[in-house]
Amino acid sequence: MLLHIGKDKALKMAKVLYLKCTRCGATYEFDINLKLCKKCGSGLSIELSYDSKFEQLNSQFGLWKFAPVLPEVKEKFRISLGEGNTTLHRSKRIEKELGIKELFLKDETIEPTGSYLDRSSALFVSFALAQGIRRIITYSTGNLGASLAAYSSKAGISLQAYVKQGIDLGKLYQMIAYGANVSVVETFKELKGKNGTATVTEYDPLVNEAKKTIMEEVFFQLNSRLPDYVIVPMGEGGLAYATYKALDELRILEDTRDKKTRIVGVQPEGCEPIVKAYSRALNSVELEVSPKTRIFDLSVTNPKFGNAALSAIRETEGIATSVNEEEILDAISLLAEKEGLLAEPAASLTIAALRKLIEQREISKESTIVCFVTGSGLKDPRILKELALRKSNLGELIEELSGGKMLNSTKMKILKILSEKDVYGYQIWKELREKYALSIKIPTVYQHLFDLINEGYVEKSVTLTTSGRKRTYYKLTDKGKALI
Ligand SMILES: [Zn+2]
Repeated sequence: MLLHIGKDKALKMAKVLYLKCTRCGATYEFDINLKLCKKCGSGLSIELSYDSKFEQLNSQFGLWKFAPVLPEVKEKFRISLGEGNTTLHRSKRIEKELGIKELFLKDETIEPTGSYLDRSSALFVSFALAQGIRRIITYSTGNLGASLAAYSSKAGISLQAYVKQGIDLGKLYQMIAYGANVSVVETFKELKGKNGTATVTEYDPLVNEAKKTIMEEVFFQLNSRLPDYVIVPMGEGGLAYATYKALDELRILEDTRDKKTRIVGVQPEGCEPIVKAYSRALNSVELEVSPKTRIFDLSVTNPKFGNAALSAIRETEGIATSVNEEEILDAISLLAEKEGLLAEPAASLTIAALRKLIEQREISKESTIVCFVTGSGLKDPRILKELALRKSNLGELIEELSGGKMLNSTKMKILKILSEKDVYGYQIWKELREKYALSIKIPTVYQHLFDLINEGYVEKSVTLTTSGRKRTYYKLTDKGKALI
């Protein structure tokens, strides 16, 4: 057990006081359906009063260990699928490769639905349940919808998820499997939740509040120690802000004021409004006019916590940086090959940035660094395929298995090989092994060739003698060519 366990004290949760704009400071009475500041349109933060300290962290399950610093939800309404309490790996091999003193990976890929947002869904759905809400509507780029779908089904609440065309397939499958009603729309528009209905957005105050617990867990997992740097991905900027808020709570409740943790926020090249504001020393984040990134979850043109994230980075003397797709794919490989973690692109951004900042000497190698790895790579079959095509010589097989080509039998594979050039039997056997990972006996290859000749798809071409060996070459007939 890494967390302190409370003794005989009854667990108290934090009381919600009000909502406060993270940019202009305007305050509002808490309303589950109020998402943005009415004055400036920025994200809202939940202001809480803490009755307890972290020492009272309890033996509760999942996220609810952090009940003392979360908005109050009575125990009978708390939903959990075992989120939170994720592993903090010491990353010895990447550490060695990059020459870093200490590197840790906060592995959120092992959350119940494969994303750090399970913490957020546990809090939101439980809170909604306690308020008597029976229906939840969400606009999601993917992970949040998939996660809410699981938690809503556990709570017996119905979920309507609105998604956009470019959604990662795995996340769409998840939503459907968990029983959500999914609709594809062109743009997300703000819907007002009516009685008994709550809306959830990526920049939701409750969704964001739960993200604090990642940094707080890290602190206790490091035996009440803070790293020099924490590297987080940024879309709406909510995680960077929540991490800042967590550091603030630790300062108040755990007296960590002597230690400064710098927040590093990373965006994908092509959609990097927060990074632009940081590097141009602007006072506020400007709209990204024409976003060009395939990292769909982070393609946010007008981040609602953008200014809050920018302030968090500046105040902690951190860094905002962006990485390109090539660097992200390399980072996915690095994480998988060196640490056994399969992360989605949006989650691998932090590793890509780490490598870059170490190489550019923006971050000293003598640092203790924590990278958040926010979601699992299994959700994104398109990127996995791209990676597999890049890394292996099984291109033909992968294309076939993923439905890219209509080859469906060994005979079709032989025809495909013959469509490229005339070859002899042994060479066909070899190509079946190398291109399709298909291990069959050589006589079986000749049996297939015999059948294909009988069916009129293949004919013998020439017989040549090479190094004293007679080799019969085969070629496609017109019928065979037509089939291919
Ligand atoms: Zn405001």
